[in-house]
Parts: sequence; C-alpha cells; structure tokens
Amino acid sequence: MSESKVSVAPSERTVIGITFGNSNSSIACTVDDKAEVIANEDGDRQIPTILSYADGDEYYGQQAKAFLIRNPKNTVAYFKDFLGKDFAAVDPTHNHASAHPEDVEGTVSFTVQEKEEGEASKLSVSEVTTRYLRRLIEAASEYLGKKVTSAVMTVPTNFGDKQKVALLAAAAAANLEVLQLINEPVAAALAYDARAEAEVQDKIVVVADLGGTRSDVTVVASRSGMYTILATVHDYDFHGAALDKVLIDHFAKEFMKKHQVDPRENARSLAKLKAEAEGTKKALSLSANASFSIESLANGIDFTSSINRLRYETIARSTFEGFTRLVDSAVKKAGLDALDIDEVILSGGTSHTPRIAVNLGYLFPQTTKILAPSTTPAAINPSELNARGAALQASLIQEYEAEDIDQSTHAAVTTVPHVNNAIGVISLNEAGEEVFVPVVAPETAVPARRTVHVAAPKDGGDVLVKIVEGNTHIKVTKPEPKVKDESKSAKVEDADEDGEDSDFSDDEDEEEEEKREKVWKIGSTLAEAAIRGVKKGGKVEVTILVDANLSVTVTTREVGAKTGVRGTLSA
Ligand code: ATP
Repeated sequence: MSESKVSVAPSERTVIGITFGNSNSSIACTVDDKAEVIANEDGDRQIPTILSYADGDEYYGQQAKAFLIRNPKNTVAYFKDFLGKDFAAVDPTHNHASAHPEDVEGTVSFTVQEKEEGEASKLSVSEVTTRYLRRLIEAASEYLGKKVTSAVMTVPTNFGDKQKVALLAAAAAANLEVLQLINEPVAAALAYDARAEAEVQDKIVVVADLGGTRSDVTVVASRSGMYTILATVHDYDFHGAALDKVLIDHFAKEFMKKHQVDPRENARSLAKLKAEAEGTKKALSLSANASFSIESLANGIDFTSSINRLRYETIARSTFEGFTRLVDSAVKKAGLDALDIDEVILSGGTSHTPRIAVNLGYLFPQTTKILAPSTTPAAINPSELNARGAALQASLIQEYEAEDIDQSTHAAVTTVPHVNNAIGVISLNEAGEEVFVPVVAPETAVPARRTVHVAAPKDGGDVLVKIVEGNTHIKVTKPEPKVKDESKSAKVEDADEDGEDSDFSDDEDEEEEEKREKVWKIGSTLAEAAIRGVKKGGKVEVTILVDANLSVTVTTREVGAKTGVRGTLSA
C-alpha cells in the first residue's frame, strides 16, 4: 500500500480521534485518560459531513446542512463513501438532493459555484474530503487551544486498501498525520472497555453500528484486551435515512389528503420534508410525541401535524425488523448462537431509537447486555462511541514513532489467528459426573496462555488431568411457566390514538417458549497428565499455552510443588 504521509515527532504531537462518517463526523480528545467528544464552534458534537458554498464562502457541518434546502446544487453531502472508489462503483442514491457525483476520468467529482463570480469549480471527492477534514482539525485546534497535528481515524471494516490510501492522502493534504486507522466496531468496544468501571473479561460482543446511510454489524471476540473480528454484515437498505423516508411518506400523504398536492414532487418541498422528518424522528427517540411543522411546504401552504411513538413504530415496523434481522444474520455468520453473545453494543446515531434496542432484547436471552440509552441508563451515547474509541487509541499510541505504531498495534485491532474450539479440563461435578471446565475460551486470539486450579479429590492421592477440546451446543428444554421480565417486556407507554395494534414484538404472545441454554460438550482429548500423591485438600494447576501456530503446550503441577508434567501437542 503506497501512502502519502505526514510525520510528526512524538514530542510535537497534539492528537485527537476522528470518526469521518457518510452522514456525520465527530472529533474527540482525552482529558485525564477519559475520552471527550469535542463540540465545534456551532456547539455540535455530531457534525454533518457536508460542505456548502454560498456567496464565495465555505460552510461545513450543520450550517452546510441547512443549505440543502436553499442551495442544494452547491452543497456536497454523502461523499465519504465515494472516496477511493471508481465512479462506476458508486451509488448516488443519497445525492439526488445535493451536488451530483460526476465522472472525471473514472473518479468522482462534484461541480459547485465556489467563488462569488466566474466559473464553477470541479472538486474531486479527495479535495472535498481534505477541505472537510481541515474544518474538523480547525474546530479541534480551536477547542484545545493548540494546533492538532495527528489523529487516529475510524473506518468501516469493509474499507478497502484503495479507500484507505485515498483517505490517508486526503488527510495528508490537510496536513494531518494519521497515526492509525482502526475499525469502527473495535473503536466502539474500546470506548466501553476503557471506562473505569469496566471489567476486562473474555466476552463475545456484537457491535451494531446503525448510521444514516449504512448499517454494519460486527461480531467481536474480546479476549484479554485483544479484539478479534469473527463476522461482519454490511447493509445499505436499513439505516436512518430509511426511517426518515417512512416519516416523509406518512406526512406527505397527510398533506395530499388535505391539499391534493404531493409535496414530494417538488425538490425544495422534499428537502424540507427530509429535514423536518429527521428532527421529528430524533424527538421520538426521547419523547412519546413529536410535532411536524413546515412553513410553506408546497404552493405556499404551511403544514403542521404530529405523531406519537406508537404510530411511528407501526409505520416503520418493517425497517425495524430489518435491523433485527441484520444483527441475527451477523451472529449466524459467526457460527454462533444468541446465547453465545455477552453484550450488544448499539452504536451510530440510529441506535438512539428505543424500538431497535427493545427488539434486540427479544432476540437475545436475558443474560445478554443490550448497551443502548433506552435499555441501559449507563450506556455511552451511541453517536460518540467511535470518536471516543479513536481518541483513546490516539492517546495510547501518541508517544510511539510512526513505524513502531504500524508494527506493534495493527494486529491488536485486526483479524488474527484464533482457536475455534474451547480448550479445557474435565472435572467431576457434585453428582460425580464428568463436566467440561473451559480454560481457553473459543475464539481466543493466539498466542494465549491461561491457568486454572482444579481441586484434587478430597483425600488427595493421584490425580488424572484430562485436557480436552470443548464445544457448546444449545440444550432445548420444554416450556416452563413464564417469568415476566419488566425491563425486556416493557411496552411503550402511550396509547395509540388511531387504535392501531402496535404491539408487534415477536415474543409478546402468550405462547410459552421453550428454554434454550448453552451447555458444554466434551470433545476430543488432547492430553492426559497424572500427578501423583497430591496432598489432602490440594489443588492442581493447569496451564495451557496456545502459540501463534496453534500448537498447545500443557503444564500441570500440584499447587505449591516445584515439579510438574509438561507436554506439547502440534496444531
Ligand atoms: P453513515 O456513515 O451510515 O451515513 P454516520 O456514521 O455518518 O452514518 P451517524 O451519526 O452514526 O452517522 O448516524 C446518522 C443517523 O442517525 C441519521 O440518520 C440521524 O438522523 C440518526 N440519528 C441521530 N440521532 C438520532 C436520534 N436521537 N434518534 C434517532 N436517530 C438519530
């Protein structure tokens, strides 16, 4: 990968985290090891990824977004996903109401009237990106009171090499040193794991990053602070803009009924509908009712209406179901079951929507934590996760020389080899039956070393330790009387004036469900070790080391004893 680069000496750096999205971007820094998202000069923490030109001036963020109604032709929006792509490969769906992507020798450009007078300019997507990044850097520099030199940036997991090269080049042209590009879901997981109260434990996490124009769901194994990506699903149909469209259509129809004019047929009216629909949608994430009001929507007629959350959830039902399906398909793609998932991190602006979190609550067992504002009060703002993770990573690596960062930290955040099955020991339970005790969890990135203590028989003596592979299977048992979980079955509180049936969660019906639980199955034996003459009440320590090429070394010894038994098995 050939890259244009800016290099800054570690002592000269001022670092931030940047998430550069197709809809919004954010900048973040760390203060006393805590990540903080920076508000720009307009007070915005989610800064629309938009540039607009009017009367010779350049606007960005929220101000540029307002120009989508008044000056759409000179407003460049939804350009990030075009960076590093051939013109033939881009989907211009979201650009119909702003500057259109044009083909310039196979790459994407936009024509805007940049100067007050004279000819319009053709700006390549790289140039637009550089200009936009400059604005973010300026905003962060102003906030920090010193010039930002360097950043960790987040990228989607399917961001290809060509896209990375283009992003690094655009950043270099903005005089920004990119310390590292990290995957968005890993940034989100980092943001949670860096909290003071977080326990570092082995877990499988699903990160559902639901944005404005795309949704990405990633299954991540977190093992001793090492993140391994197990599966990813990318989708361009279920996203925030699809929810906006539901509201646009709903209110356009109401307007048509009254005034016999379809406001969607006029570009300016449609832009007004879109802006108001987004505002109403966001309001519905917080309250049970929201107004919808547009001055001079079409033919000079003002329009005022309102909607409650139940009605919204009913008309947007198929989109909400789409989000649940995406998450379900990612879990399946990883070869896992809902029961294997310890946490679901809801990330991205659309994840503020309460119904999405509630529906995911039904997909997973009660043991799975759904980390979203509507289900977990302590959840981190989903719109801030990626930027916070990037800022944390930036502060961790800022003291390294650029070459060392490349070598030492790439592996920690990309796919690395991992064991498929668990490795553990066989122990006897109270009923005297053999049970599997996992020592190395499945999906653990290698090399890995884990130790357990196994109790010897009460009276001591010779102990045989069996090291085996284990895999889980799902045990299904007949229905038991249902115990109601308030948090998971909470219904939305308001009543639907239209009397529509809004209770559509999958398992709210009265049918009793079968019980599904994850149980270990003992697989093939890897090794056996005999420890002779263990003391009464003694314990045996078993250490399992899996090296980078997956060969396994097992060491067993009595706790407190100097000698033990050691053996190595090949992968
Ligand atoms: P993408 O790259 O998919 O376009 P992004 O990562 O650039 O998205 P985000 O800020 O994560 O952007 O998501 C933007 C989407 O989130 C928009 O559709 C926006 O309307 C929606 N959104 C933001 N806040 C809320 C909220 N409180 N409730 C519901 N939706 C919201």
